[in-house]
Amino acid sequence: MISVERRQTVPVDVGGVIIGGSAPIVVQSMTNTDTADVASTVAQVRLLADAGSQLVRVTVNNDASAQAVPAIVSQLADQGYSTPIVGDFHYNGHILLTKYPAAAEALAKLRINPGNVGTKHRDANFTEIIKVALEHDKPVRIGVNWGSLDQRLLTELMDANALRAEPKGAKEVLLEALVESAIRSATLAEEIGLAHDRIVISTKVSTVLDLITVYRMLAKQGDYPLHLGLTEAGLGAKGIVATTAALAPLLLEGIGDTIRVSLTPKPGGDRAEEVRVAQQVLQSLGIRHFEPQVTSCPGCGRTTSTYFQEMAEDITNYIREMMPEWRPLYPGVEEMDVAVMGCVVNGPGESKYANIGISLPGTFEEPVAPVYVDGKHTVTLKGDRLVDEFKAILLDYVVRTYGVGSSGGASHDV
Ligand code: SF4
Repeated sequence: MISVERRQTVPVDVGGVIIGGSAPIVVQSMTNTDTADVASTVAQVRLLADAGSQLVRVTVNNDASAQAVPAIVSQLADQGYSTPIVGDFHYNGHILLTKYPAAAEALAKLRINPGNVGTKHRDANFTEIIKVALEHDKPVRIGVNWGSLDQRLLTELMDANALRAEPKGAKEVLLEALVESAIRSATLAEEIGLAHDRIVISTKVSTVLDLITVYRMLAKQGDYPLHLGLTEAGLGAKGIVATTAALAPLLLEGIGDTIRVSLTPKPGGDRAEEVRVAQQVLQSLGIRHFEPQVTSCPGCGRTTSTYFQEMAEDITNYIREMMPEWRPLYPGVEEMDVAVMGCVVNGPGESKYANIGISLPGTFEEPVAPVYVDGKHTVTLKGDRLVDEFKAILLDYVVRTYGVGSSGGASHDV
C-alpha cells in the first residue's frame, strides 16, 4: 500500500473548513447558475453540498450577482446549509467588493485572478481587494490561470529569457510565469497586510503534463496550501480521464490541499458529477473515503443477459441511497468494499478480497450465487429474490460491523 506524505502547508480556515495543514484534502465545486438568480443558485449549492462539496464557489461578475450573495448565504443558512460560499472575481472585483460590503461579509473566501485585475491600475486594484479581505477578515485564493495570465509579467520573463546565454523554451517560461505570478501576488498581499495563513494558491492549466509540471514547480515555493485542478477539463469521459491523469500523480506526491474537477456538463446534466468525480479520485487513490467502494467486473460473453449489469447498478444505488442514514450511525462504513461479480472466473476470488461480495451465475453456470463475508463463504443465494436477499445480508453486515459496540472496522483477512 502506497502511503502519501503530504507536502507541509499552513492551514487556512475558510468559514470553518480547513484547507492545508493536516486537514483532509477538501473537495470543492462551482455553480453554473446566474448568481443573480438566488433561487436557482441556492438550489444548486444545495445539490453540490448534498453530494459532498465542502466549499462552493459562485461567480460574482456584476452588481446583480454581488447584491444576490447575502441573500444566497442567508437562505442557505435558513435551509440548514452552512457550506462556505466563495466569490469568484475578475476585472471588476475591486469595484464590486467595495460597493457591496455585505457581499464581502457574506462570502467565506475571495478568489482573485491576478491576470484579470486590470493592466494600468493592476496593483492598485489588487490592493483594494486585499484591503476588503482584511476589513472583513476573509482568506483569498490567488488563482492564476494560463488563459488569463498577466501579460506584462509574461513579457518581462520572456525578455529576460531572451538575454540568457541558453534561453529556455517558450512553454517553460510560460509555466514559470504562472508560478511567478502567483508567488509575486501572494507576496504583495502579505506586504499589504494579509496574514500568511489567509492565502491559498492555484496555477491552473488545461493540459495534463503542463499541470503536473507547474504544480511541482509551485510546490517548491513556500508553504501556501494549493488548490489543485485541471482547468477546462472538458466533457464526459475525456474530462474525467484527463482530470484523473493530471491530479493522481500530484496527489500521490502529496501536492494539493483542495481539489476541484472542472467538467463541462451536458445540457441539463447533473452539476454534482464534478463532486463525485473529485471524491472518486481521492477514494481510488486511498487518500479519502466517502462511500463504500463497489467493485464490479465489466461482464463479458459469460454474462449475456443484462441481469448482472442491473444488479451491479441496483446495489450501487442502494448503497448510495443508504449512505446519508448509515454515515452517522455506522462510522467507518465508507471504507467498506463490496464486490459484485458476473461469474465464477473471478467472482469468488474478488469477493474474498472484499468485505462482502457476491458472484452471479454466468450464462452456462449453475443458477446459484455464492456470498462471501470477510473472506468466508457464508451462503449461496438462488431464485428471483436474490438481489433483495443480498441487500439484507449487506445491511446486516453494516449494522454488525460498524454499529455501536462493534469492533469498529471490517476485517480484510482472506
Ligand atoms: S468475472 Fe466472469 S463475467 Fe466478469 S468479466 Fe470476468 S469472466 Fe466475465
